[in-house]
Amino acid sequence: MKRLISIFLITIICFSSAILGCSENGNTANNGKLKIITTVFPLYDFARSIGGECVSVTTLIPAGGDSHSFEPTPKDIINIKNCDLFIYIGGESDSYIEDILSSLDKKPQTLVMTDYIDLSPLKSNDHDHGDSDHDYKSTQLDEHIWTSPNNCRIICNAIRNTLSEIDPNSKEYYHTNAAIYDKKLEKLDMDISQLVETIQSKVLIFGDRFPFLYFAERYGFEYFSAFPGCGGHSEPSAATVSNLIEIAESYGVSAIFYTETSNGNAAKAIAEHTGAKAVMLHSCHNITSDEYKNGVTYFSLMENNLKTLKEAFSVAAD
Ligand SMILES: [Zn+2]
Repeated sequence: MKRLISIFLITIICFSSAILGCSENGNTANNGKLKIITTVFPLYDFARSIGGECVSVTTLIPAGGDSHSFEPTPKDIINIKNCDLFIYIGGESDSYIEDILSSLDKKPQTLVMTDYIDLSPLKSNDHDHGDSDHDYKSTQLDEHIWTSPNNCRIICNAIRNTLSEIDPNSKEYYHTNAAIYDKKLEKLDMDISQLVETIQSKVLIFGDRFPFLYFAERYGFEYFSAFPGCGGHSEPSAATVSNLIEIAESYGVSAIFYTETSNGNAAKAIAEHTGAKAVMLHSCHNITSDEYKNGVTYFSLMENNLKTLKEAFSVAAD
């Protein structure tokens, strides 16, 4: 009888770990879970979706924080040193990370997205010339790769493969999670493509920063903005606003966009002058602690963006 009970218990335990699929290769101080740190919110959301029960993911940039003005604390640097995997975008705006990593005697395993995706150069609008508000070098590269769900598929493949290398016993689990997630990204990409096909005048005018370069490139939008990338930290100049008003009028656009990172005042002013609506698209850089509590995900943000775009371009929502 005892033997039967033992076999029964062993079977249950084996079955449970087969379902969970997690080995205990991770940090022993972390309940056997791999300790992952990411920079921006999308990388966090991808890592937790693919890593599931086998990982414990945190973001370097705290909830509600601005990734462009973030400065790590000594505690952050110790956390990076001690994690199992550190995931970041790379490029100029992540150069502080390279500085941190080169200062460490013991480096964590890293996953850098610029190893997988070529960054596009920031592009200036012609009307920007001479406006000192947003001086920038034309050689600067844009790091907001996650605004294209197609790029996110590449990012997620890289996360899946790296997790599988670090923790080969859970490889199947990571591959299963990644396959489910990839289907969702593929659908999001298709939904946006299908919407864009119905839009006559594919123009995005941002009275704001413009972190949607990869989105615009993926779906074939022409774009104009007050600042290239996230280069601007102040309100755009009157000259920039008046140029965007002229462009908006010449294209006859029905919406002027802004992002959640600003108060949208410039976009609202342009919209008011041109009879368009000012509408917010979420750039997904980060979310607030309330949004974390409410279970906001990359998908919920992008699906809201899709809905906003449908309304902005007056396409009937399905
Ligand atoms: Zn940005």
